[in-house]
Order: sequence, then structure tokens, then C-alpha cells
Amino acid sequence: MTETDYSFVRRHFIDPAPRWRDLRHPLPAVFLDRDGVVNEEVDYLSKVEDLALIPGTAAAIARLNDAGVPVIIITNQSGVARGMLSEDGLRDLHEALIGMLATEDATLQGIYYSPYHPDGLDPYDIDSPCRKPGPAMLHAAAQEFAINLQDSIFIGDKISDLEAARNAGAHGVMVRTGHGAVEANLPGAAQARFVADDLAAAVDRLFADGFIQA
Ligand SMILES: [Mg+2]
Repeated sequence: MTETDYSFVRRHFIDPAPRWRDLRHPLPAVFLDRDGVVNEEVDYLSKVEDLALIPGTAAAIARLNDAGVPVIIITNQSGVARGMLSEDGLRDLHEALIGMLATEDATLQGIYYSPYHPDGLDPYDIDSPCRKPGPAMLHAAAQEFAINLQDSIFIGDKISDLEAARNAGAHGVMVRTGHGAVEANLPGAAQARFVADDLAAAVDRLFADGFIQA
């Protein structure tokens, strides 16, 4: 099959040997937005000392790990384009995040991030198809991990996350943490498959609905 070139999509800590990558049997995945879903929203997180997991997040991810579901973060990081942190600084944040999750036996298959913003600094001042609500990060991850997007879930705290899910042909779920405290009350939240209080509650519901088999 022909693979699309997604080399423009930026990545950190991609699982080098995913047991899932079987193109004959693409699997559903759970994609997670980062800020306001996995870690507390602090407006342009740039320092490791400001990084804090939302309670219950690691256990929820570990539960997905145990069920054999790929878990991948999909995050806009326009703070890079805005000059608030470098991609090296972002990598340090992601290393710390992965370390925090590991203390509770939770693992990610990778982090896809978009450092771009049209009003940002050179060379990040582009309108990239990877910036959510664009679907390119989801498409890249689907190709790289042999994921069936139609059966996958993207859990986010913003309407733009739901739009990214829709644009990729996946299901959107919204949480009320982070920007979700406000955005879950907006009309656009109606496109969510469901709205949950937080990631732990969203994952509970995915198992309860049979969307994921334990
Ligand atoms: Mg967010």
C-alpha cells in the first residue's frame, strides 16, 4: 500500500517496537489531548515544575495499557511558535510527563505535537495541517501504528479536539477538566460522543459501553 508522507509531523518518544503495527489488522486506539486532559491546564505550560497530572489520569491510562489499546497524545504546542519554550524544552516536559506516568505503570505509545501557529515566529509561522483541528497528527499516528481511526476515540477538553476527531473520522469525547469546564457547555460540545467529568470517568465509560474490551 502507498503511505502518505507525514514526515512534517513532529513527534516525541515514539514506541520503537509497537506490538500493534499489523496493517492487516488495524486496531482502535485512544488518543488524548495533553493539557487539560492528562496534565493540569496552566496556559502554555513551559516549565517542568508546573507539570502536574490530573488525578486518576495515570491509572486510567494504565487500564487502557492493560487492555492492549494504544494510547497516544495529540497536542497543539503553539507555545513553541510563540517563543515561550523551545522544542528541546518541550521534549524535557514530555520526558518528565512520561516519567510521572511510569511511576504508576502507565505508558504512552508516543506524543505527536504541533509547534506551529500562523502568527508565530519563524520557522513556526505556518498554517500547518497538523495543528488541530487539522487531522494530520491523527493520520500520521494511524499510519505509523496501524490504527483504525473509525473505531478510535479522541478525548479532549476543547471543541477543536472534537473537530480534529471528526476531521480524522474518529469519535470525539469531551472532558470537563481544563478548558472543558467552559467548552463542555458550548453548542459545539454536542458533537461529542459523550462528555465526562475527567479522563478517568471517560475511560470508565468506554469500558462500560463495551467500546473497549477489558
Ligand atoms: Mg487541551
